[in-house]
Amino acid sequence: MSRFQVRKVAVLGAGVMGAQIAAHLVNVKVQVVLFDLPAKEGPKNGIVAKAVDGLKKLKPSPLGIAEDAALIGQANYEEHLEQLRDCDLIIEAIAERMDWKLDLYKKIAPFVAPHAIVASNTSGLSITKLAEVLPEEIKPRFCGIHFFNPPRYMYLVELINTPTTQPQVLDQLESFVTSSLGKGVVRAHDTPNFVANRVGIAGMLATMIEADKYGLSYDVVDDLTGKKLGRASSGTFRTADVVGLDTMAHVIKTLQDNLKDDPFYPSYATPAVVAKLMEAGALGQKAGAGFYKKV
Ligand code: NAD
Repeated sequence: MSRFQVRKVAVLGAGVMGAQIAAHLVNVKVQVVLFDLPAKEGPKNGIVAKAVDGLKKLKPSPLGIAEDAALIGQANYEEHLEQLRDCDLIIEAIAERMDWKLDLYKKIAPFVAPHAIVASNTSGLSITKLAEVLPEEIKPRFCGIHFFNPPRYMYLVELINTPTTQPQVLDQLESFVTSSLGKGVVRAHDTPNFVANRVGIAGMLATMIEADKYGLSYDVVDDLTGKKLGRASSGTFRTADVVGLDTMAHVIKTLQDNLKDDPFYPSYATPAVVAKLMEAGALGQKAGAGFYKKV
């Protein structure tokens, strides 16, 4: 297998995941350019600048050293797409909406280098459907790369191929993710929410339904499902806040849209409390409030 040299990576989407994936990459000395929508407020206060600032405030911060933030190049899709041409890897991490991702792929396709790998960090949308909009020459180099939140600390990365992904591309990506990023890879089939989220979301929903039935507080449930159980993760409700309730709702919708014959299907409803918090803009950590008032 020829060695895949990753000198520069474009991360599309400077949200919860994109910003932290960028941070992890600069921590391991890979050059990064982080993209998001153009800033309404002007370049200095744009989405990417805010995301990079936010990285320093997260506890624990995903930035190894404070100066690493300065190494994250900032760009938007309207003015800076040329910068994609010298990227060896493009990781798409925009919101979990198939239509938005497809629009973006059409926009970036003319700027993708002939050798570059393009990979989506989707939580569980069909990688095969995402590939459909790409030109034939990019399809063999497109796949899913599913990091877990927080990406600096979570070991697992799922890699997902489509029928048109070249096997060598997945091998090259696996080698980069394990050797350079220090992660463990599971190769997953292109099924709704792949493996970990398919199981994980079912567990979270069942826990939320039961907690509501028995009137349990978020703290008690988080103790029972998190640290006091000996798990490294922070329990059901705090995890939902870290993930983002809007993202969680999108991930639930993927199950609703695709698994109508699944025996668990009736339990895939978005819990009323999640819908209510979303309506109030309490999307979790990224909004400063979610299940917990301050997250
Ligand atoms: P987020 O809401 O925090 O950030 C999404 C970013 O996408 C925002 O910065 C937004 O400005 C940008 N964006 C929105 N619409 C866009 C458009 N039309 N074109 C271009 N950019 C647009 O979301 P996130 O939690 O970072 O999730 C990003 C992706 O990673 C999703 O596919 C999600 O399912 C996946 N993911 C999320 C988690 C998690 O725990 N949050 C974990 C693993 C994978």
